[in-house]
Amino acid sequence: MTNKYRYFIGNWKMFGQLSSIKILKRVNSYLNKVKNNNSKVIFCPPYTLINSFAKQLKKSLISIGAQNCHHESNFGPHTGSINSKMIKNSGAKYVIIGHYENRIRGDTDLLINKKIKASLNNKLKIIFCIGENRKQKNKRITNKILNKQITIGLKGINKKSEIFVAYEPIWAIGTGLVPNTLNLKKNLKFIQTKLKKILNNYKILYGGSVNHKTIKFIASIENIDGFLIGGASQSSKKFIDIIKNSYK
Ligand code: PEP
Repeated sequence: MTNKYRYFIGNWKMFGQLSSIKILKRVNSYLNKVKNNNSKVIFCPPYTLINSFAKQLKKSLISIGAQNCHHESNFGPHTGSINSKMIKNSGAKYVIIGHYENRIRGDTDLLINKKIKASLNNKLKIIFCIGENRKQKNKRITNKILNKQITIGLKGINKKSEIFVAYEPIWAIGTGLVPNTLNLKKNLKFIQTKLKKILNNYKILYGGSVNHKTIKFIASIENIDGFLIGGASQSSKKFIDIIKNSYK
């Protein structure tokens, strides 16, 4: 870890309803019982739940984030879109940008760069996702892909910006697969070396099939400040087990 805190970030994707607050309340009760807690927990539910969850968790150990945003930093005629100003206003502190599931729906590196800049303008902390797909991995062009995603995604960003960079190999998302030690170390090292030149205040996360079993291996790898958790973040038990097992 490059930081004294370990971050656990839940990405709920298109799941959850108002009553799902009980999941977060259970996680918060667990965190309150931990002595010398150094876990930072952030949940990113769908837009529809942000305001309600943020209000109910105001005095809790959990922060709320969004899963995406429009690239304009101000209001405008964009039917069905939500921007970072609205996200901030609804009580979220973080926003995920560049998730693979949005990249395949048209989020280019350039658009991602605009979203990051707009969100920083609106004082949100950024969870910026990068990662190679299976074909790119097999062709051994992972470094080239990561380099492009970071270079364009973070172009013109103030060095002091607070950015979490989530390395999420696309082939590991929702598949139960995780990279091997050598691969993970090599890719994280590449990302770290690149980020050092661009930012003063970055943290590196890993995402892709993090669960109560894989966490033991992933948490043993140096230079990971935290984890982006998809499927397993929808259950308080699975999420708490990930936190527990990450310290074993
Ligand atoms: C994700 O979607 O960001 C993710 C990491 O999903 P999962 O944990 O389900 O692989």
